[in-house]
Amino acid sequence: MKKSLNQNLINLIEYYTLLNSNLLLSVNEIKRKKVNSSISFIGSKSEKLEKLKKTIKSIKNCDLKKNATNLVFADGNINSKIMIIGEGPGANEDKEGKPFVGRAGKLLNKMLEAIQLDRTKVYITNVVNYRPPENRRPTEDEIIRYLPYLKSHIEIIKPKILLLLGSTALNSLIGDEVVISKARGKWIQKEINSLNLWVIASFHPAFLMRQPEQKKLAWVDLKMIRDKLKKL
Ligand code: URA
Repeated sequence: MKKSLNQNLINLIEYYTLLNSNLLLSVNEIKRKKVNSSISFIGSKSEKLEKLKKTIKSIKNCDLKKNATNLVFADGNINSKIMIIGEGPGANEDKEGKPFVGRAGKLLNKMLEAIQLDRTKVYITNVVNYRPPENRRPTEDEIIRYLPYLKSHIEIIKPKILLLLGSTALNSLIGDEVVISKARGKWIQKEINSLNLWVIASFHPAFLMRQPEQKKLAWVDLKMIRDKLKKL
């Protein structure tokens, strides 16, 4: 009896050593690796989109979701050559369950109109699909959590061009080392999951509302998109 107790103790110590008891007993947060696992679905484009939407709706323990009214998945033409990525839903988007329907959305519509595009010709989504409270930026953890869904979303739509609006979309998909003021208005070829895409960043419409003098640069970017679309 005593012997088997000792043996159990030895087994337990070995087990905890294997598990790395420091990690188990530590009060510090475990530094998580940036997860970039890809999620894929089977079926037609619309079926895949429905499955992705369902998967996002079933997210657990997410404060964004807990505080939001609606999932804001996407809007526009699922067969568009151009996919536009914003930051995250605001109050109006949360209420309606659609991206870019508030003031920033109205400006986005005008920007698109300037290059003969509208909601029936583009596809729009955001880095995160639930409204961050008080319209704050999504946190690093929230971005990392939603990134596999965003990449899967891009893979399903298969656009030729990705337009990243603002620094959150730019940094989430291209990396933290780039800044919007330098990266905007430049074509980048980028592999996302199985796709090779033309990516361009431009200022977020909400930023343009605060700094209207930057609209002339956004116009340069829009013309670059118009010209690229003609060639693709
Ligand atoms: N800003 C965004 O980034 N996305 C929206 O959907 C609305 C405002």
